[in-house]
Order: sequence, then C-alpha cells, then structure tokens
Amino acid sequence: MHNTTRSQELFSAAQTLMPGGVSSPVRAFRSVGGQPIVFDRVKGAYAWDVDGNRYIDYIGSWGPAICGHAHPEVISALHDALEKGTSFGAPCALENQLAEMVIDAVPSVEMVRFVNSGTEACMSVLRLMRAFTGREKIIKFEGCYHGHADMFLVKAGSGVATLGLPDSPGVPRTTAASTLTAPYNDLEAVKQLFAENPGEIAGVILEPVVGNAGFITPEPGFLEGIRELTKENGALLVFDEVMTGFRISYGGAQAKFGITPDLTTMGKVIGGGLPVGAYGGRADIMSMVAPAGPMYQAGTLSGNPLAMTAGIKTLELLKQPGSYERLEAITKRLIEGIMEGARSAGLPITGGSVSAMFGFFLCEGPVRNFEEAKAADTARFGKLHRAMLERGVYLAPSAFEAGFTSLAHSDEDIDTTIAAFRDCFAAVA
Ligand SMILES: *Cc1c(COP(=O)(O)O)cnc(C)c1O
Repeated sequence: MHNTTRSQELFSAAQTLMPGGVSSPVRAFRSVGGQPIVFDRVKGAYAWDVDGNRYIDYIGSWGPAICGHAHPEVISALHDALEKGTSFGAPCALENQLAEMVIDAVPSVEMVRFVNSGTEACMSVLRLMRAFTGREKIIKFEGCYHGHADMFLVKAGSGVATLGLPDSPGVPRTTAASTLTAPYNDLEAVKQLFAENPGEIAGVILEPVVGNAGFITPEPGFLEGIRELTKENGALLVFDEVMTGFRISYGGAQAKFGITPDLTTMGKVIGGGLPVGAYGGRADIMSMVAPAGPMYQAGTLSGNPLAMTAGIKTLELLKQPGSYERLEAITKRLIEGIMEGARSAGLPITGGSVSAMFGFFLCEGPVRNFEEAKAADTARFGKLHRAMLERGVYLAPSAFEAGFTSLAHSDEDIDTTIAAFRDCFAAVA
C-alpha cells in the first residue's frame, strides 16, 4: 500500500471547511470510493501528492494540460506577463492575439468573446441562441455536460424529460421546461422534437465527441443529420467544444469531422491551465453581443493578460508540426493496450480514442448513448481505479469521464500504464 496519510488528513480537514471537501464535486472520488488524493505539484505527464507519491496523470486538469503540466515555455511566458500586471479591466493586445489564433483555427468562429469558464461560455451562448432566433426552447442530449447553469441541468431519461424535471434542486421547473432532451446518436428523436415544437426551438447544443458520459463518439451521419435538421428548422447548431477544442484537432471536432456549426463554445485547452472560456461563431450572430448588439454579457476578469498568455503559448506549442500525430499515436496505443489487458483477464470492455481523448466502459459494447453507458460495471471500475492509483496511475475518478493524454506522455509512460492496467484488470476480474 502506498502511503497517503497526509492526503487523508488534509481531506478530513477540508470536509469541515468546504462542501464535500472540494471545490468541484467529482474530485471527491465519491463514484469510485476511497479517499481523494491531495496534489502538491504537477509537471509534464506527472502529478505528485502531498505524501510524495508520483502518478502518471491521465486527467491533465480535465483537459487544459495538453502540452504537459507546467510546460516551461508557458511558465516563462506567464512570468513575463505577471510583471506587467494580472488584470487590466481594459482592452489588452493579448486578447487580439488569442482571438486571431482561435478565429484562424476554428472553422465556425468569425468573432469570439472571452469569458472565464466553460460554464460561462455555455450559458452565454444559450442566451445568444435565444436572442438571435427569438425562440426559447433548446435541445440537448442525455449525458452531455454543458456546465452547471440552470438550463443545462436537465439530462434525464425520456419519461422525466417529457415532464421537464430538473436534475438539481434549485433549478426552476419553468427553466428546465424549455430544455428538451434526446438520446445521443438518435436523429429520429431530434426530428420528433422539432416536429412537436414547430417554430419554438432556438437551437441544438451538443458535445461533438462526448466526454462527460464516459467517452462516446458520434455515429457516421449523426452530426451531419443534426446540421441539416437545424438548418431546415431555422435553428442554430452549437458545438460545445470546451473539451474537444484544440484537443481532437487544432480546429476541434468541427475541423476533424468537416461539419461547421453556427456557434462554438471553448474552454479548458484555450486557457492553458488558467481559467478561460470563450464562445464564438458567425459574425452576424456574434454582432448581437453587447456592446455591438443588445444581448448583454460581461466579465470583470474576462480576457485578462495572464489567461490570454497561457492560452496563446499553449496554442503555439500545439501548432508545431507533428503534435496531433504524436497525440493520436500514443492515445491509440494506450487504449489498444487497455482493451487487450481487459480481454486477457476475461473482462468485457468497449472503448476507443479520438486524437488525445480516450475512454472505455466495462461492459459489452457498443455504447452509443448514456443509457447504454449505464450498463458499465461501475463497482469494478471503482476497484480498478484504486488499484491503478496504487500502481501510480491517476485516472479520472468516475466510470463516466473521458481520459486525456498530453505531449508530455512518453512512450515509456504509456508502456508503464499498459502494464499496470494488465495487472490491475487481472486483480479485479
Ligand atoms: C468542462 C466542460 C464544461 C464546463 O466548463 P467549466 O470550465 O468546468 O465551467 C462545459 N462543457 C463541456 C463539454 C465540458 O467538458
């Protein structure tokens, strides 16, 4: 057993200070059991806990650390920016620079507004969808996560969805009622929602590759079909690329799959580890945003020079030739090794990867939506998760989260991880 005494002490104290001992729920390890690990520092592909244990990290701060944690060039750029002040509350040249990079990279984005988190980007884009179309209802998919704003806390199965019941107390029923839900990869269900609500649906928002219900890919034709349905019905299509943006290709999922939404939300990678979100899209729609237009949205710390600097440097690093080829190759090798390890232990598994994002479910596949994902053996995943921690591999503490690789993961890290998986699958079989 590796020693985690200090982590346990800190987490016990934290529970008296903060709800559940954390600043964001999944960190508390509730769905895998056991005590969370308290980190002391991160570097490259690794995290060290407060007891001095080292882990190969496959979360990367839930996505931002795609170049590796605390990349020396990002840190050095941040040092320089820090000297000039942390927040101006006024325009700064760095905003132009990052905006230009995002506009050049992401096909749908002609103009962009920076905010401070993915949640903020998604709640703002929803207001924009409604402002632009003059309609109130939206369609989202079960299991997709778009941050914690009221109108997105609805993802329940069809019966509950019909009643428009929210997932969390505190969300007004009237707010939840204008959020319609469909199973992922189910075009017919979306068609039906449009038919049942003629002229009322402002748009459809989705994760173009799902990472928040476990890892689920769009079936051939699904994204194309949604693009057509939204066009036919005068509704907007929003790709929530907070996770996939600059991760599954430099231009995000829309560049990878060749489908251009009207609007796009971003976060995670574009902040390079600092709090950033962004939404952007067609210039005619973005021109509705204040002060160019009447839709109000603002932020005291939005576009601050530190966050812009970390984003710019991270994108520069990613833009270097070979980055995505490298990410794709190691991630593919990793998931193939994981699947092979499970099979040789006689365990059912289904999984895959797209570029630097991967995931697996401990069940027979295929998993095409959240309902099917629920067949996964979560108890066994919890055991696996704990066994992997003992072996120095830090996986997302939930069977329903994707995994992330980075440019800092070496071939040896991948080999070590595959070997640990093989042993741990055998131990939990
Ligand atoms: C993480 C995430 C969000 C929320 O971003 P925060 O920065 O945590 O508020 C929204 N959408 C998707 C797809 C995400 O993965």
